[in-house]
Amino acid sequence: MNHFNLFELPEVLNRALQNMQFSKPTPIQAQTIPHALKGRDILGSAQTGTGKTAAFGIPLVARLLSNQHGSALVMTPTRELAAQVMTQLQAMLGKQGPIKTALLIGGEPMPKQLKQLRSRPRLLVGTPGRINDHLQQGNLILHDTDVLVLDETDRMLDMGFTSQIEKILKFMPNTRQTMLFSATLPNNIIKIAENYLNNPVRVAVDKTISPVKKIRHDVLRVSEEEKYRKLLSELDARTGSVIVFVKTKYGTEKMAKQLSKAGHNANAIHGDLRQNKRDRVIANFRSQKYRILVATDVAARGLDIPHIEHVINYDLPHCAEDYIHRIGRTARAGADGSAICLVTPANARKWNAINRLMNPGAADKKPSEQRYKKRSGKPSDFKNNGKKFNRCINRKAA
Ligand code: ADP
Ligand code: MG
Repeated sequence: MNHFNLFELPEVLNRALQNMQFSKPTPIQAQTIPHALKGRDILGSAQTGTGKTAAFGIPLVARLLSNQHGSALVMTPTRELAAQVMTQLQAMLGKQGPIKTALLIGGEPMPKQLKQLRSRPRLLVGTPGRINDHLQQGNLILHDTDVLVLDETDRMLDMGFTSQIEKILKFMPNTRQTMLFSATLPNNIIKIAENYLNNPVRVAVDKTISPVKKIRHDVLRVSEEEKYRKLLSELDARTGSVIVFVKTKYGTEKMAKQLSKAGHNANAIHGDLRQNKRDRVIANFRSQKYRILVATDVAARGLDIPHIEHVINYDLPHCAEDYIHRIGRTARAGADGSAICLVTPANARKWNAINRLMNPGAADKKPSEQRYKKRSGKPSDFKNNGKKFNRCINRKAA
């Protein structure tokens, strides 16, 4: 049996993991933690919902707890994700622990962050833009920051953060430990890894044991005109929390209003909302004050809300890989979930690209409707064979 106590972690951390009800490492954790505890660099890939946060978080927290000096920086693509990672790492550090933290994210007033920075934090979590602002203004010094984590690196690069990340790296010591995690490992990430990681241990989760397999996929072929009505009937047919993905920021607002009018309890989230509004929307969804969250891709990236049961793809994503991230919002850590796709005739090409990404072996065949038949119950094979389908480069935050 593989349990966390085999890793000989600091007692505070063992207790914290118990409190969090983490009794057994997930596969990516089991593969990462022993190497990372030895200080090795890590290049990790695993689907969403497989426990990557604790895979880097446990060795990082162990290091902070057992050394008097040094600090750690974790970078994530979005503000919500940074806040979520911080919450999990703080839980691991223990509530009343002596280690100070700073959450450095955009859209929040500077004074609060400056106060946190003055308290000599040893754990920094944030988004590349705001971290750079603090570096340029001289608020942040990284010369003793000897652990760096790049979380959801594929998305950070897709969002155009490459040069921001490179600038930040210049402020950090070369003798640091770097852990890079990503759901997918396209060439641009392999290149970053070659430049910034030192002889990394490559860890990847075997797809056959991935919890993401428990997602049931339904594909609904609809015409443009019947799409909204179909959505309503799907919402009526299901219970439990739902996330509905739409293409545009404006579209999220419009859809949330329409659904509310139709008697559903819905809210919108997108990149243009003020930070405190976004926080409120997420917090209320997390505490199940309303049932339906209507979101753009960027806003929903990485969100870990365990009770999401259904992901409805009202609009298909801009690029095929986003599909994997979207459906990763459900079936977190082994729970069951369902994903529904509304596909109109105009979506045929996009849908084929998604199909190819999910079923590389079947790339040359026509997408099999049999496989995706409504309620077929057959899980799809989520292999990303490294091919590039509709790669999303430098897409603006949605
Ligand atoms: P990822 O970053 O790979 O998408 P997360 O780190 O957000 O996944 O973890 C997904 C969910 O699984 C979270 O709710 C987390 O609390 C839970 N989790 C992670 N590791 C464990 C574990 N060892 N035991 C139980 N739950 C876990
Ligand atoms: Mg994650």
